Amino acid sequence: MDNVVSEFISDELHEECGVFGIYDLAGGEVASSIYYGLFALQHRGQESCGIAVSDTNGPKGVVKSCKGMGLVNEVFNPDNLSNLHGNIGVGHVRYSTAGASSVENTQPLVLNYVKGTLALAHNGNLTNAPELKNELSYTGAIFQTTIDSEVIAYHIARERLNTPNVESAVKNAMMKIKGAYSLIVMSPRKLIGARDPFGFRPLVIGKRDNAYVLASETCALDAVSAEFVRDVQPGEIVTIGADGIESDTSLCIQKPARCIFEYIYFARPDSYLDGVSVYNSRIMAGKILAQMHPCEADIVVGVPDSGNVAAMGFSLESGIPYGMGFIKNSYVGRTFIKPKQSVRESSVKIKLNVLKEVVNGKRVVMIDDSIVRGTTSERIVRMLKTAGAKEVHVRISSPPFLNPCYFGTDVPSCDQLIAHNNTVEEICKMLGADSLGYLDGERLSELIAGDSGYCDACFSGRYPVDPPQDDIRGDYDK
Ligand code: SF4
Repeated sequence: MDNVVSEFISDELHEECGVFGIYDLAGGEVASSIYYGLFALQHRGQESCGIAVSDTNGPKGVVKSCKGMGLVNEVFNPDNLSNLHGNIGVGHVRYSTAGASSVENTQPLVLNYVKGTLALAHNGNLTNAPELKNELSYTGAIFQTTIDSEVIAYHIARERLNTPNVESAVKNAMMKIKGAYSLIVMSPRKLIGARDPFGFRPLVIGKRDNAYVLASETCALDAVSAEFVRDVQPGEIVTIGADGIESDTSLCIQKPARCIFEYIYFARPDSYLDGVSVYNSRIMAGKILAQMHPCEADIVVGVPDSGNVAAMGFSLESGIPYGMGFIKNSYVGRTFIKPKQSVRESSVKIKLNVLKEVVNGKRVVMIDDSIVRGTTSERIVRMLKTAGAKEVHVRISSPPFLNPCYFGTDVPSCDQLIAHNNTVEEICKMLGADSLGYLDGERLSELIAGDSGYCDACFSGRYPVDPPQDDIRGDYDK
């Protein structure tokens, strides 16, 4: 091991959640498919997870669920999975960006009300959740969680009292809630998928034999051998019932605002989001970096995992050889359970090793997806230099973070963003790097084949939806 230098890394960004739903119209059991689907979406949330299932041919409104803190393979085992009988179900993996990290806040939420039972899985953050929660509280609602997803569930349940079917209730609730949401709702006889009109978070439809699948990313469809059918459009509501799939696009708008950072960092590179390969997006980001910030170097290395593909793009464009500079220890999921800043700064998050044989005596281009507070990047640059790198040229496959995100990620407030108060030259010095270059915000659309319907608010400050007056993220329970 003397050719390896070790250091502990923190300061990673997190996606809030991943969602998965399946309805087997032929009556087959679905719990194990949800388990494997969630497993494929584990990168979107590692704090807690859950599955709720029902039998559409059994007594109406009987839902069996199992939820807990931890990774999918920590919460579920053959015993508890075998108790989850049913042919319709929904699953969720969570990282908390609003509401505490606790077992009460795990999803899917299961709600019993006069019309039966609803189970709901939500990815995103509402920007008007406190107002809506107040409104509901004053009319007698009692909340059992501190997450904004419960506000959505309540609204759907209330609307259902005055609407002919559950999809109309979802639509009416969507006209009240604001912000980012990709939803999967299970009613006794239907599975519903809905995406907010801006489409911040992804949601795709798949099919396997007689079963329809809804999932955050296509990699989860692959995991259960379902074929990709199409993306749920921003603003669309899809209803899967005994007669197949129906669509309501009346809430769709002209210009969506998909999260561009899904392509840069959050999503898995083997996924396709809204018709674009995440892998190709990252290759393109690396190529753009090589064009805009070229440098003389001997090797290009990516910071695992999301920096690796962009590093290959940089190598392809520049002709500088690509090398594996780091080994990432993947067995650290439990340490992500406590997301608070105080814990984040003191606890070990990721263990990363530099392969000294790869970088020793070399001029290294180091590609990473972003710099948040700068602590991680500074450590990695130091690790490379300790391992013998002669020069370290840092290239970042996103523009500088200048603003927080209110749409389902934990990009933090301005005072915690190193680029908000420092110039690129100052940041370069703070990192101890020999040069630093970021992706140009003007070229972000090239990552998604020239489409302009994306959100880049954390870089540009152009919020597609008015941000909440107070930063409610993490304080929603107060
Ligand atoms: S603000 Fe940034 S992280 Fe948040 S949705 Fe927009 S692009 Fe994505």
